[in-house]
Amino acid sequence: MRVHELAKTLNLSSKEVIEKLEELGIKAKSHMSNLDEKAMELLKKGKAPAKKVTEKKVSVTPAPTVKESKKKPEAKVEQKSEPVESPAVSTAIIEAIRVEIPITVGALANKLNLRVAELIKALMAIGIFANVNQLLSEEIIHKLSTHLGTPIEKIAPLEERRIGEGPLKAGEEKHLKPRSPVVTFMGHVDHGKTSLLDAIRKSNIAAKEAGQITQHIGAYGVDLPGKGHVTFLDTPGHAAFTKMRARGANATDVVVLVVGADDGVMPQTIEAIDHAREAGVPIVVAINKCDLPHANPQKVMMQLQKIDLIAEEWGGKTIFCKVSAKTGEGLDNLLDMLLLESEVLELKANPVCPAEGVVIESKLTKGTGPVATVIVQKGTLRIGDVAVTGAFFGKVRSMRNDRGKSVKEAGPSYAVEVHGISGIPNAGEILRVVGDEKTARKITESRLIGIRERESRGGPKHLSLENLHQRIQEGMSKELKLIIKADVQGSVEALAQSLEKLTNDKVRLHVIHGGVGGINETDVMLAAASDAVILGFHVKAEPRAQQVGEEEGVDIRYYTIIYEAVEHVRKAMEGLLEPIFHEVVDGRAEVKKVFRSSKAGAVGGGIVAKGKIMRANKVRLVRKQVVVFDGKLASLRRFKDDVREVAEGYEFGFALEGGGDIQESDILESYRLEKGESPRLK
Ligand code: GDP
Repeated sequence: MRVHELAKTLNLSSKEVIEKLEELGIKAKSHMSNLDEKAMELLKKGKAPAKKVTEKKVSVTPAPTVKESKKKPEAKVEQKSEPVESPAVSTAIIEAIRVEIPITVGALANKLNLRVAELIKALMAIGIFANVNQLLSEEIIHKLSTHLGTPIEKIAPLEERRIGEGPLKAGEEKHLKPRSPVVTFMGHVDHGKTSLLDAIRKSNIAAKEAGQITQHIGAYGVDLPGKGHVTFLDTPGHAAFTKMRARGANATDVVVLVVGADDGVMPQTIEAIDHAREAGVPIVVAINKCDLPHANPQKVMMQLQKIDLIAEEWGGKTIFCKVSAKTGEGLDNLLDMLLLESEVLELKANPVCPAEGVVIESKLTKGTGPVATVIVQKGTLRIGDVAVTGAFFGKVRSMRNDRGKSVKEAGPSYAVEVHGISGIPNAGEILRVVGDEKTARKITESRLIGIRERESRGGPKHLSLENLHQRIQEGMSKELKLIIKADVQGSVEALAQSLEKLTNDKVRLHVIHGGVGGINETDVMLAAASDAVILGFHVKAEPRAQQVGEEEGVDIRYYTIIYEAVEHVRKAMEGLLEPIFHEVVDGRAEVKKVFRSSKAGAVGGGIVAKGKIMRANKVRLVRKQVVVFDGKLASLRRFKDDVREVAEGYEFGFALEGGGDIQESDILESYRLEKGESPRLK
């Protein structure tokens, strides 16, 4: 029998059973450990064994990879309970100077016990020309700290520090209470994420509260009488999940990976796994559509085993549930398993400190003004509380739960719609309760300064191939994370293998996600959340992804030859990147018609959607996000005339050099290369 099964029969939690076993000298690692009869007998009698009975080894074939074991809940729990010993004892002798960032040159000089002129000189030595009142960013301070050999630590501004210091800070441990899990559904499109969310909601809410309108607030909770509570995020999908993480928030405790039993593992299934693993969130697999006659759950299990997601019944550590959103089969078991997983995770929060939560949605409504849906993560949020989120604050005027009911308070893991905040914060923003409105105003003001300062500074927000070497040297980067998108799977694998081989003792190369197809917004969000660089091989970024990439400061690179990509990354690691050419896209047009002539081959007729198409530029023909031609134009015409350029909104005809093929709906991009770094990276 497994520990969790025994726990059930004894009406105890798995943890209590493990503790009791330990008292009896029996070691059981987790809720999944197998117990033999003797151990069970002893536990029931509460007697110590004559001989030490050890956990029956769960043999795993094939051996779990580092990836799998790294992401296991057990590992997470261990991390929490065992304080990590710092190996860098010697550096602790030099006491770090602790400063609020941004800080002015004058204030920093004071802290460092230097004359202002001395500090300005030191700054000049690292290429920064500053006056006494100039605010210094974290990046500059880091460089300065290395230059001076004085460790400088960042601390939160005073008001923000005060918020964190609830009256219970010192003895907070004893106030920690178990909290319910927050769950997100992820998986390939059409595998049934929405249907499962609906089915669970219907069978657990609607029936009992018939007549009540269920309100969409971005999350809903399910009460399982006598067992617990589960909160589901109502926006399935990877982009939303990772977008929040990119903002620094992790709202999800457990990811349910939905895989259609008729369809098996698909590209977005892999994408979901990569996103969950990068976030360090445990996965529970729900094999859906088991009602279908051609459902093949075994096949799904086999496919997932290949990517190191191994079912318990096959010796692995991942919980698999067979379900059907259509018939409702297996849904109760799925809920039980989610509670079990959360028990293993030992989710806890202090319900009595000032509340803190994460914004999962926000909008402006006509009647009530801005509303934000918040999942409370600690403390209890109450009407009348003054809360700060992003650059906004306000007094909580009213709150509604997922059933549309007015509530006066919300505790950990519960979602509520909050009214009374002065604006609409971004999803992923943290909401914190502070003492009073004066403090709240001060905090938002100082945040606005920070935001403005960051904006004016511009600069790379994320790791890029240009700043990689510098970051390695400064000890800020020990890993280069990469996302590879290509036109065929073979290229993804070939590139990943060649690139990971570049790993040396200073920097490890790690491909966190690879897939076939154009670079999409989800890839960009993952890169932003994980500080990764994106490589497109024979593929381009979708226009929206390009835009988000620029906003987020994510480095996106395009290659057509594997050797070139590998060389480029190698040089970046060694700081040997040649002056870089960056691309300037001048215009984009869609092909509406194609004519074929024996003389010129394919001639495309199109209309300029954005910018202009220039005769002298290079062009790229993109078909379903795949680059099918990269070169020069053979001709560019308006009616019968050769022209130098065609402006936005105008029709034109063109042929490609070498008579390259053109098809309807292809996108023609007109671009040129300019020397130097892309302006957004400066
Ligand atoms: P999503 O894109 O992952 O949110 O998938 P949906 O929930 O929209 O479901 C896609 C399609 O699969 C819909 O037509 C559903 O009716 C169907 N579907 C979902 N779950 C089941 C199931 O358990 N059994 C069957 N037979 N069909 C299902």
